[in-house]
Amino acid sequence: MASGQIEHRLEQAAAACARSGGRLTEIRRQVLRLILASHEPVGAYTLLDRLKPDRANAAPVTVYRALEFLQSHGLIHKVERLNAFIGCVEQGEHPHHDHAVQFLICKRCGTVVEIEDAGIAAAVGRAAAQAGFTPSHATVEIEGLCTNCHSGSLPS
Ligand SMILES: [Zn+2]
Ligand SMILES: [Zn+2]
Repeated sequence: MASGQIEHRLEQAAAACARSGGRLTEIRRQVLRLILASHEPVGAYTLLDRLKPDRANAAPVTVYRALEFLQSHGLIHKVERLNAFIGCVEQGEHPHHDHAVQFLICKRCGTVVEIEDAGIAAAVGRAAAQAGFTPSHATVEIEGLCTNCHSGSLPS
């Protein structure tokens, strides 16, 4: 993401936090900026390394607290399979509500795309209900090849 675009997203994020009674403090803003600037999901320890030049005394707990805040305000998602974080395309539109989300994870280049397909979410809900289960959170992670990697791949 271009830096102008990132700054714009950060302003939107700050406004979304304010609307739900939170505050995008400097450390939270820095962590969100690093996530948005990355081309692929980033793990907590990578974030910590990237914070070090600015914050020599940043500890893992500093990063985890910021990530927790950003997640609870609907600004980022955790991609469990990669144990890494990605900016939410909805940017805080649904604070305190983890919207149903699906991730397309490219095995070759590491790109992750967030999609939100109401049909998939409904199907997961129905299947769970049939088993007498009440889901509170459903993330579907799909591994494969992105358009770029697929079209560039040689037949094996
Ligand atoms: Zn999202
Ligand atoms: Zn790819």
